[in-house]
Amino acid sequence: MATSLSPCPYCHSQQLHFVHHLLTHAVCCEHCGACGPSQREIDEAVHLWNLVAQLQQSQNPALERAG
Ligand SMILES: [Zn+2]
Repeated sequence: MATSLSPCPYCHSQQLHFVHHLLTHAVCCEHCGACGPSQREIDEAVHLWNLVAQLQQSQNPALERAG
């Protein structure tokens, strides 16, 4: 597992866990309950979670200042 998870883009928590449905997996935040997109591949779910985190940070530069 070389891929690392970005912190939650909403609350900046690093307490993340995987939620597994029948055929899909998603990264969810334990702190605020936010979930990334569900994907069939765990790697893909991780990739999309990181993508959402990056987008949120770039769209809300105030988040970094607030942290
Ligand atoms: Zn969160």
